[in-house]
Amino acid sequence: MDNMYKDLSLPNRILLGPGPSNVPDRVMKALSSPVVGHLDPAFLAVMEEVQEMLRSVFMTANQFTIPVSGTGSAGMEAALVNIIEEGDNVLVCVNGVFGERMCDIVERCGGILRRIDTKWGTSIDPEQVLKVLEEFPADIVTIVHAETSTGVLQPLEEISKITHEKDALLVVDAVTSLGGAPLKIDEWEIDVCYSGTQKCLSCPPGLAPVTFSPRAVEKLEKRSQKVQSWYLDMTMIRKYWGSDRVYHHTAPISMIYALRESLRIVLEEGLVKRWERHQKLHRNLVAGLGNLGLKMLVDEKFRTPMLNSVIIPSGADDVLIRKRLLDEYNTEIGSGLGPLKGKIWRIGLMGHSCTQKNVDYILSALKSLLSQ
Ligand SMILES: *Cc1c(COP(=O)(O)O)cnc(C)c1O
Repeated sequence: MDNMYKDLSLPNRILLGPGPSNVPDRVMKALSSPVVGHLDPAFLAVMEEVQEMLRSVFMTANQFTIPVSGTGSAGMEAALVNIIEEGDNVLVCVNGVFGERMCDIVERCGGILRRIDTKWGTSIDPEQVLKVLEEFPADIVTIVHAETSTGVLQPLEEISKITHEKDALLVVDAVTSLGGAPLKIDEWEIDVCYSGTQKCLSCPPGLAPVTFSPRAVEKLEKRSQKVQSWYLDMTMIRKYWGSDRVYHHTAPISMIYALRESLRIVLEEGLVKRWERHQKLHRNLVAGLGNLGLKMLVDEKFRTPMLNSVIIPSGADDVLIRKRLLDEYNTEIGSGLGPLKGKIWRIGLMGHSCTQKNVDYILSALKSLLSQ
């Protein structure tokens, strides 16, 4: 009988949205390497290398640095369910979708939530964090480094200092920033940090690199209650990634090959060069958008280079223009979320997608579409 389903066939898009970004051929090739067992010595060697390379990219000596099985949100959940015990006081800084999502998880794992809200498109003021922590001593403070829903890059050093002066631990969402903007886990004393593979690392979605500082591991080890999630319980997963190699769940073998190759590419380019490339092409894009008469949502001082939020000019049809970009230019950009729906476009320049050619292409496409 003939198979009623045809061969899989997908367009090769130019991905300039909030993620995923385009994946280099080298990474796709690594992904298709032979699958071996999750305790095969050949795979254990890959795991070691991936952990080592993740430490380099996170700029940390943290022993406990691994890719969690799941997307960036699994990294978020893994960070929070492991570090929070029922009754812990948790201060969440909210200025976009991902801060909101953290609040939801904090409440689901029994944390006592206190939030700082600032207008979407603006950054969190360290003074305000200090003021709130003075009235509300917290065990944990959480914040998003690059808020992909708005395009804000949050300075972290001062907030980290304040958090530790007040004896709390700092959890940072670096899903979009890792590999695209300076992020220094040890120097900035970040206690728990999580990321994702499909933004500036340019690997397919499916893994969430996380790192836990010795202080965070100590809190994890001192827990009096079991971690609320079985699948994301780092007290068990550590025994697989550590020297014991105890089976917990089958590692996503092929994705770990892909991550290995994408990290190799990041380190070949060099972190500093990579940050500079994102910064330079971000500036070129913003200048070009300015020439088209378009304005950015975020103040220049707080713009994150890999995600550019541009205000949709009055009279332009948000949905139609994004549809024509996809249909006629084979290019994806992002729409606004929540209160910014219909108000902004989000143009991503992440990892492999962050090239001068793509900047020129999206500028000429927008010029043509906006003039019609
Ligand atoms: C994309 C993103 C996430 C969620 O990652 P998924 O891979 O979609 O689960 C979390 N935080 C930030 C800042 C992100 O950009």
